[in-house]
Amino acid sequence: MKRNRGGCDIPEATIGRLPLYLEKLKLLQAIGVEDVSSRQLAESLDIKASQLRHDFHYFGGFSRPGRPYQVQKLVTALEQIIGIDRPVPSAIVGAGHLGQALANYQNLDLQGFPLRGIFDINPKLVGLEIRGQPIRDLDELEPVCAREKVKIGIITVPASAAQAIANRLVASGVIGLFNFAPTDLKVPPTVAVRNERITVGIMSLSFKVKCLAAAGEAVAADPD
Ligand code: NAD
Repeated sequence: MKRNRGGCDIPEATIGRLPLYLEKLKLLQAIGVEDVSSRQLAESLDIKASQLRHDFHYFGGFSRPGRPYQVQKLVTALEQIIGIDRPVPSAIVGAGHLGQALANYQNLDLQGFPLRGIFDINPKLVGLEIRGQPIRDLDELEPVCAREKVKIGIITVPASAAQAIANRLVASGVIGLFNFAPTDLKVPPTVAVRNERITVGIMSLSFKVKCLAAAGEAVAADPD
């Protein structure tokens, strides 16, 4: 499936690989690597160099013919493309087990998504602090989101409450929803939704585990 919003027409799979390229490049940068070839970068991510070049081609290619990519320049370019060259204010709605765990995840801030609000309806939670941020009553959602220019809403409420929360976030100016609730959200076409499912990840792992186990049994049964 392709996206075609705001001038973008990039395959989902390419969009999904951009953060992986960036993550790997930042690791290389941290150990002082200045240049990397498409082959090296692709192999480190277990994909083909042609795939990587094809992905980069959507953004102009980045390369100088026959020469490797400059890591620093590529990091800067990818950060701009992904939209994290400047902070993207974010908020969490639902400060239960998952919401608190995410609020405690310092890397969200470090990767460019500073947390500007945590909201819940439970009076026992309201007022508690997580990394210096108070959990606020849901009544404060709209004014805080507007004041802090929140762009991404992280939804960690029960499924039954998720759509109403999505509506309120969108009405407050949020244009990206990171939805953990197990329900599909209806949003205007100007809003992006990413549904995150830990169970989906673990099920695809299960498939590979099953294949590996079957291959192991086959080898044990017929070692030649
Ligand atoms: P939880 O019960 O610990 O937390 C839910 C919180 O939401 C509670 O603090 C509750 O007071 C608050 N809440 C309820 N209605 C609200 C509303 N209208 N506005 C604001 N806050 C509200 O549950 P949890 O284990 O943290 O799970 C939260 C959500 O995330 C659930 O929908 C769960 O199914 C989902 N979940 C998804 C994944 C995943 O992989 N996607 C993993 C775990 C949990």
